[in-house]
Amino acid sequence: MLNMQDVSKIYRTELVETHALRALDLVVKEGEFVAVTGPSGSGKTTFLNIAGLLEEFTSGSYVLDGVDVKGLDDNARSKLRNRKIGFIFQSFNLIPDLNLFDNVDVPLRYRGMGAAERRQRIEKALTDVGLGSRMKHYPAELSGGQQQRAAIARALAGDPRLLLADEPTGNLDSQMARSVMELLEDINARGTTIVMVTHDAELAARAQRNVHIVDGMATDLQRGSVLASA
Ligand code: ADP
Ligand code: ADP
Repeated sequence: MLNMQDVSKIYRTELVETHALRALDLVVKEGEFVAVTGPSGSGKTTFLNIAGLLEEFTSGSYVLDGVDVKGLDDNARSKLRNRKIGFIFQSFNLIPDLNLFDNVDVPLRYRGMGAAERRQRIEKALTDVGLGSRMKHYPAELSGGQQQRAAIARALAGDPRLLLADEPTGNLDSQMARSVMELLEDINARGTTIVMVTHDAELAARAQRNVHIVDGMATDLQRGSVLASA
């Protein structure tokens, strides 16, 4: 699903060069649920933004679902992103002036879908995350957990192959975090590949696989390896 080899990312400003990723190698297979952990500033968000075609990389290769991303122009990149990828963020990123129905509609309109298909997808996505009775509500009228569920509905309405989540439970109390995690597990069980950045060790431990990013390089954490090497 995702194959990055030797991917580096350098941010350059007048005074400093920051090596956010250094020759990162990472393969995520179709159907996996991967949790990405690592210290602050280690490159997790940069990795996710590159994986999601939101940012370009400086060198290396990235193949997304069989498509070599290098050399695609902006238009081709955003088409690929819209067809294949859903995003969820720590801060939900819902549009406050739109109700839930219209929030979920935004990426579907962007894809140029007809009204009937959009309506059907929006209603299904919101119902699937337990918000079928809240479609006319505005984000501010909902709890944090409900807002994140709405953001998940927005990400899923387009049937993405890959769901990328950046600290999706970071703004939620532990009970809401667990229920969002259960929803992500359901989504994964139905076939969507998930890559989730998290600081929450308990949630990371529930994923099938843990990848640790330190200083812009990724390593697989095998369960128990910390104890084994201690
Ligand atoms: P998180 O670790 O929660 O994903 P952010 O991605 O917001 O947090 O930021 C991670 C680090 O990247 C921080 O040290 C932040 O200062 C830095 N950072 C984010 N965006 C920029 C930017 N545009 N310019 C410089 N540093 C940035
Ligand atoms: P994490 O998500 O693990 O906290 P990030 O990927 O946000 O780490 O950041 C990795 C490094 O890249 C940090 O040193 C951060 O300050 C830097 N960085 C991130 N975004 C930018 C940016 N837009 N411009 C300059 N430096 C950035």
